[in-house]
Amino acid sequence: MRIIRFQHKKKAPQYGWILNDKVGQVEGSFSEGFRRLEADIELKEVQLLAPVQPSKIICVGRNYVAHAEEHGAEVPDLPLLFLKPPSTIIGPNDPIILPPQSEKVEHEAELALVIGKRGRWISIDKAFDHIFGYTIANDVTARDLQRSDKQWTRGKGFDTFCPVGPWIDTDFDPTDALVTCHVNDELRQMASTRDMVFPIRQIIAYASSVMTLEPGDLILTGTPAGVGRLSPSDQVTISIEGLGELINPVSNEERN
Ligand code: MG
Repeated sequence: MRIIRFQHKKKAPQYGWILNDKVGQVEGSFSEGFRRLEADIELKEVQLLAPVQPSKIICVGRNYVAHAEEHGAEVPDLPLLFLKPPSTIIGPNDPIILPPQSEKVEHEAELALVIGKRGRWISIDKAFDHIFGYTIANDVTARDLQRSDKQWTRGKGFDTFCPVGPWIDTDFDPTDALVTCHVNDELRQMASTRDMVFPIRQIIAYASSVMTLEPGDLILTGTPAGVGRLSPSDQVTISIEGLGELINPVSNEERN
């Protein structure tokens, strides 16, 4: 099942599901699950929005060895967690806005998971019970500010720095899926999720030993090697095998 959030004509945004070129409404929630109603709306008549509105976005840094190495950084002994504010979220086809404070904004293609069941101190063997489904995210990063600030709030936290979507897939198998990132026609990143240092079940257990995971929370599982600079009028395409494709244009911030 592929869950979306969408806007149809002038109506309020709502959750729904997608089947080929049709969209239907749903009843329910991330914690209860969704019941699908008839898919009777044309996909081309709706705007797809980010499929989550999380209370928090938890991210894992340096979770692929080759990415840690390209920054001359050590792979940590435990998952390296940080947060992005929910105000970073944008949906499919929304523009990533390059802020004037940074000279070097980079893409980071990542598999993301959405929490379905609330929990604290979740054990490794129960971790998958707490996942609602999977989506694609881009952990956009102002690399120069991340470095100069020492900690990452500003470098990771600008508005539009977390494109997510286009849907949440509840049946996706995350064990060995190819993650690729193209900027325009250039292949920048390609690796399998099997190369993660810390597997998903360990990330959930570790994060939930710190903070309660709420239904709808988003966890980004880290990026492979090949991160690189974004420029105005670029187009970023992140694909995850079996999951889909997330496309976002890039533009400069215009200030009034
Ligand atoms: Mg990242």
